[in-house]
Amino acid sequence: MTLMTLQELQKRTMDMLSQAGIADAGRETRWLLKHALGVSDADLIAGGPSPSGDAVASVQTIAGRRAAGEPVSRIIGEKEFDGLSYKVTPDVLDPRMDTETLVAAACSRFKDHQPRQILDLGTGSGCILISLLKAFPESIGVGVDVSREALAVAQENAAQHGVAAQTFFIQGDWAESVNGSFDLIVSNPPYIPSGDIPNLDKEVRNYDPILALDGGFDGLQAYKKIFSQIKALFSQGGCGFFEVGILQAQDVARLAENAGFLVKGYHTDSAGILRVLEIDSGEK
Ligand code: GLN
Repeated sequence: MTLMTLQELQKRTMDMLSQAGIADAGRETRWLLKHALGVSDADLIAGGPSPSGDAVASVQTIAGRRAAGEPVSRIIGEKEFDGLSYKVTPDVLDPRMDTETLVAAACSRFKDHQPRQILDLGTGSGCILISLLKAFPESIGVGVDVSREALAVAQENAAQHGVAAQTFFIQGDWAESVNGSFDLIVSNPPYIPSGDIPNLDKEVRNYDPILALDGGFDGLQAYKKIFSQIKALFSQGGCGFFEVGILQAQDVARLAENAGFLVKGYHTDSAGILRVLEIDSGEK
């Protein structure tokens, strides 16, 4: 194995990722090197210790995985969401920046008082619920997922971010086994129409759990189920925030209205796409 400096290894890795068509090759290279070598940003800029032959080989292996289409978060087992780092495994959806729109929208609704109880349906890595509990230290959060493996990841993330004492995790089919009265109900359910799954980017199709993506034939099946279950779970004046897929906002709003909720509005993501539906629980 040829010995090379940290800078040379960085340049080679970046070239390999660029050639593979990875848009943000510079940043992704820094993440991979920091993870594989335990070096800091400062080392990467100023030049840290030269990596050993074994270290170079392990960087080349993971760069090869990245070049072949595996997302960095899947390689290093973590992803940043709303300023915090989350453990991710094959059992959970890779947290997306789009979903930060939901957290921001819910936070702006509760500027003056904290929600007493928050329900997150299909919690996955726990990133939405945990971000909300960091923003609302007096709140209690309930996270539901059908996958026990996902719940174990969410629990670990909650502990890692110091909100374990505020959280309960429950296994279940959406809200089926939930009791309680919630000021805030949130969800990023699966919303991709089944027929579109084969056309997703391979980074999504091959690495995100199908359970977290497949929204049935029209992409709307999870919303229908959720809206049919949550009416009695809202406290008086309670509200809900739901992530939706591209061009789904109106359809999901109609489903919410048909289930007896009031549509309060929509929130756009950083690309200007209607990404979150806000509802009010309606009269009780
Ligand atoms: N936002 C994800 C995607 O675009 C889908 C996640 C979901 O279905 N909730 O691939």
